[in-house]
Amino acid sequence: MADAFDVVVIGGGPAGYPAAIRAAQNGLSAACIDEWKNRDGTFAFGGTCLNAGCIPSKALLESTELYHRVREELPTHGIRVSDISIDVATLQKRKAGIVRKMTDGVAALFKAAGVTGIQGHGRLLLDKRIEVSAPDGSRRDLLAKNVVLASGSAPIELKSAPFDHQRILDSWDALELASAPKRLGVIGAGAIGLELGSVWRRLGSEVVILEALPDFLATCDQQLAREALRHLKRQGLDIRLGATVTGAKVAGDTVAVAYRDAKGEQTLTVDQLVVAVGRRPYSRELLSSGTGVELDERGFIKVDEHCRTAVPGIYAIGDCVRGPMLAHKGKEEGVMVADLIAGRFGEVNYKAVPSVIYTAPEIASVGATEEQVKASGRPYKVGVVPFLANGRARALEAAQGFAKLIAARDDDEILGVHIVGPFAGELIAEAVLALEYAASSEDLQRTMHAHPTLSEAVHEAALAADKRSIDAINR
Ligand code: FAD
Ligand code: NAD
Repeated sequence: MADAFDVVVIGGGPAGYPAAIRAAQNGLSAACIDEWKNRDGTFAFGGTCLNAGCIPSKALLESTELYHRVREELPTHGIRVSDISIDVATLQKRKAGIVRKMTDGVAALFKAAGVTGIQGHGRLLLDKRIEVSAPDGSRRDLLAKNVVLASGSAPIELKSAPFDHQRILDSWDALELASAPKRLGVIGAGAIGLELGSVWRRLGSEVVILEALPDFLATCDQQLAREALRHLKRQGLDIRLGATVTGAKVAGDTVAVAYRDAKGEQTLTVDQLVVAVGRRPYSRELLSSGTGVELDERGFIKVDEHCRTAVPGIYAIGDCVRGPMLAHKGKEEGVMVADLIAGRFGEVNYKAVPSVIYTAPEIASVGATEEQVKASGRPYKVGVVPFLANGRARALEAAQGFAKLIAARDDDEILGVHIVGPFAGELIAEAVLALEYAASSEDLQRTMHAHPTLSEAVHEAALAADKRSIDAINR
């Protein structure tokens, strides 16, 4: 007899594990299957995000930013320190400890919620039967009333620069380096390229980032992107735009990278090369033939706005479906489908998905960019307030960047908020809530913000949209 569950989730990343937990909270019997294998051979729930993505990268960003601040900023505060050094082995150990605590946390959450966590490979058979292959080679079937596919994504490999995981690295390799390479090349100036480029730059690497597109952060608000580029370049990141890589050859201890830009054919020699050109949906051995679950031409599982596949009772969420590849987007989809399965209300507001790049300063956005609003033809107004006008940012020695708010001229609805500056990733939460509640800029203007806080920059940006900023010059 196959074990039967109300909900079986395949994939225990930030999309899948919340789906299983919410299903259990809704009184349903739930199981979550995952096959993750760490580089030391150990198993862990948490997927890419907890094991090889969001969490380890943020741990490294935090340590290296602290190192940078101690060296560069403490003298400004009158704090004298000498003999500052950083031990990469300790930094990596701290990161590994954080990851382990977070992934053990998922197992503990499963236990507390009554979710059955299963290690193994899950494959959807017909009639919502799932075959689980355990690491010891044994097999068993589960029977589900509802199935949630949350199989995630994998790095895109370039034919011109295939991974060898020694010299030509994927993002996981780049999180695990034992020391800073003297020269680090990065292909792709996206979130991974900028975050991991920043980590190793702060640890002393000469970092060159090759980006194929002529515009920096092409899908972001371009005023925001220009400001971010200025700060990142000042930190010594050599970001080359309009640079298309045509080949990469490992020769001994180095990698020769060939690329083409507006000036013609170029070469770059580095000690290691990170390829960070995006991720692709992952669905290896996930679906047996005849399940009725369809993939699109790029390999994403086809779903509607409620993450329903074409087969009743089968859902797909997270990186393996359309939309931004972000942990919080997957989490909300997981919660939504678990609520829908339980007959409750569930939806995801795809117009209010925040995105944050954890460089210094941080780059955070929600809603429409100015370019998108302009293209829509809807009359709009913009408020931009620099952190130079914010007392807390000055006290933090972090008065860089700005907060920008875009609102409609007709009904004052907030359409987008874009922040580059200290703790922008935290500040954007207020803007997400504003968009969720369809707030007007006047709503934010009339909301009291504690002084002195960074959040006043968002308040002032709302005021500046009507040329009523108190603390900044209205333009
Ligand atoms: P995944 O996290 O990829 O999890 C899928 C899980 O399914 C895996 O554990 C896999 O083992 C398992 N699986 C797949 N197929 C099967 C199968 N057939 N049987 C059993 N198990 C299976 N996003 C952010 O929002 N913020 C960040 O700061 C951030 N930083 C990142 C940094 C890096 C370096 C990287 C690489 C990514 C980062 N991301 C970040 C993106 C984020 O990691 C993903 O969006 C997120 O992990 C997607 O969640 P998911 O659950 O859909 O997939
Ligand atoms: P990305 O899509 O963010 O950026 C990839 C970049 O590589 C793009 O700018 C693209 O133009 C460029 N590119 C593509 N092909 C190229 C080529 N041949 N030569 C040069 N440049 C090329 O992808 P990523 O940085 O690899 O990140 C993968 C996913 O993980 C993204 O969806 C991202 O949202 C997510 N992620 C999020 C965070 C975060 O939220 N802070 C951090 C890391 C990763």
